[in-house]
Amino acid sequence: MHAKNLVESAIDASNYIFERKLVSGKAGNVSARFKDSEIDIIAITPTGVSLAEVNPKNMVMVDLHGNLLSKGQPSSEVFLHLEIYKKKPETMGIVHTHSPYATGFSFSNKKIKRLEGFGKINKPYLEVVEYKKPGSNELAHTTAEKIIQEDVVILKNHGVVATGVDVKEASALAEFTEEIAKTQFISHMLNSK
Ligand SMILES: [Zn+2]
Repeated sequence: MHAKNLVESAIDASNYIFERKLVSGKAGNVSARFKDSEIDIIAITPTGVSLAEVNPKNMVMVDLHGNLLSKGQPSSEVFLHLEIYKKKPETMGIVHTHSPYATGFSFSNKKIKRLEGFGKINKPYLEVVEYKKPGSNELAHTTAEKIIQEDVVILKNHGVVATGVDVKEASALAEFTEEIAKTQFISHMLNSK
């Protein structure tokens, strides 16, 4: 994969999750990674730009240590992305959303059930990462620790982080997480008297 394709794949995923209403306004962030024997680089969405408006000129390139390789300022959650890439080396794409149903669960004491589609179901519920300030190193560390064993986690009182073998898979997982949260919410409403 060329750097150009890397940027394009991150832009495509950003536009997709915006269109699917998993993010709105300037919320959410997306990154894609390219790694070979010599380089390990990440294309990440810029801070303060809607995911509907990212383009090859405003996307930001960083290395695994957060050194800037391009113009621009990366997402405020850049360390969350980098920490996951460091701790979970097979991760090649990350999507962070505040999608409404899954985030609604994160603000409640209810957990989201795993449904078919999450691969082998070992644990009945999606894992929740305890609340840490958005953009903080603490959030980056606690999330990366938890997601080593998972593909997606819920951030308490905040949102969703999904990983994948590429950024397209991560965005599909973020979308699936929202769908099952919505399904669970609707079935709860219908079953309650
Ligand atoms: Zn967030």
